[in-house]
Amino acid sequence: MCRSAAAGALTVATAARGDTTRPKEAHEMFDLAVIGAGTAGTIAAIQAGRLGQRTLLVEKNGMPGGTTTVAAVNFPGIFHAWGRQVIAGIGWELVWRTVALCGGQMPDFTRIPERHWQHQVRVNRAIYASLACEELEKAEVNVLFHTMPAAIEETDNGFRLTLCTKTGLEAFHARTLIDASGDAIAAGMAGYPVIEHDPRQPGTLMLSLTGYEYTGLDLDALDRAYREAVAADELNDRDQVFVRNNIRGFLHARGDNCTHITDIDGRTSAGRSEAELRSRVSLLRVYRFLRRQPGLENLQIAFMAPECGIRETVTIQGEAEITGEDYVSGRLWEDAVCYSFYPIDLHLPAGGGIDTRPLAPDTLPTVPRGALVPKGSKRLLVAGRCLSSDREANSALRVQATSMACGQAAAVLAMQAIRENVPVMTVNMEAVYSLLREHKAIVPQAGGPGET
Ligand SMILES: Cc1cc2nc3c(=O)[nH]c(=O)nc-3n(C[C@H](O)[C@H](O)[C@H](O)COP(=O)(O)OP(=O)(O)OC[C@H]3O[C@@H](n4cnc5c(N)ncnc54)[C@H](O)[C@@H]3O)c2cc1C
Repeated sequence: MCRSAAAGALTVATAARGDTTRPKEAHEMFDLAVIGAGTAGTIAAIQAGRLGQRTLLVEKNGMPGGTTTVAAVNFPGIFHAWGRQVIAGIGWELVWRTVALCGGQMPDFTRIPERHWQHQVRVNRAIYASLACEELEKAEVNVLFHTMPAAIEETDNGFRLTLCTKTGLEAFHARTLIDASGDAIAAGMAGYPVIEHDPRQPGTLMLSLTGYEYTGLDLDALDRAYREAVAADELNDRDQVFVRNNIRGFLHARGDNCTHITDIDGRTSAGRSEAELRSRVSLLRVYRFLRRQPGLENLQIAFMAPECGIRETVTIQGEAEITGEDYVSGRLWEDAVCYSFYPIDLHLPAGGGIDTRPLAPDTLPTVPRGALVPKGSKRLLVAGRCLSSDREANSALRVQATSMACGQAAAVLAMQAIRENVPVMTVNMEAVYSLLREHKAIVPQAGGPGET
């Protein structure tokens, strides 16, 4: 736990010796449990802690940040649109401080970029994760890394969570719950329906290649050799060098190289394991092949992400669903909690490219409270890419700045539900907005965001 000793350590009753099926019972009642310390969950937990909420953060990995850090997609976007900042708050604070601490430079946000990704901010993974740890500590969040939920039960006054810790099952209690697992794991366990996306976008293994000069390569010869290797079954058709058969693109992205993994179910342990195995074995095949090509004799894999990045699995069936039409029309929802800004960005399921559709000038989509609340839920919210949305809208809403903003909003909504002792769908939104603004988030309003 990273909660300070002064704040009191968690007390867990000792289970009977040898009884590993009966969870040890913790006696405290947390105000909030957050499942997943990823892009959204880390921000939600910091926000809750800063609001004085007794918060439990549960994460299967050993550091915060999720896709941003562990899957090495360390270029969060997008916080600015049409020359103005549209997402700020705790996510922006961490991103900004990471860049400042590393002596880096922000893109010029006053200029409207030719390509959307030019406004993404590159963050150093180690510093981002470490700053997040520091803020979790300061906010006195109780962090349980290396832990996953085994069962979640809704009770009269909240939730009973049976967690699988390193040493066995332990039970915790929380008044409210935020599912920030990306895959709506907690919502599913608590009995709320999820919508499986079919087809799904490919996953990606991020890596970094060094030891060659791209400009010195004979690209035509490389293409020929690649096609021959595929024909000879040395490389198989599922070896997706980012975009199918695009060996040039794979090598050109120096330092940001990646492979696509198609047809996997990133929500389950079995599907995730298949992705990890297939992508790394595939990379090895490609590496062996490339090392034999002129100019690539010294090729090295300098970095390979510890975990594959997953773009799409399921979404919740929410109190409100954001459709592609809502997104591209820039619908301002009555109870909007944040803006979102990204093109529709569907990586084609078979790995053959991306369907990217930029938003029309001045379009600013928003996220309603109901997209974070499973239908019928009183005290459970989601934040991150599993928010209620159709495939088209989700391809844009899933990105990191939006996930962070949703995490912050979900924490404030959860706290307000406790304060007012009402379901989250009926809390006073003016109180929510006021708290969000106090914590530097940008609340959508008619006419767009003001100056920040
Ligand atoms: C390859 C790739 C490229 C992308 N490119 C961009 C980009 O350029 N810009 C951009 O902004 N976005 C990009 N995205 C999208 C964005 O990164 C993700 O959609 C976003 O980070 C999702 O945030 P999240 O909080 O929902 O999930 P995550 O950040 O994945 O967090 C989920 C957390 O929950 C944990 N978890 C999961 N299951 C359990 C469990 N059962 N128990 C405990 N913990 C659990 C995970 O370990 C993780 O820490 C990309 C995504 C991918 C995969």
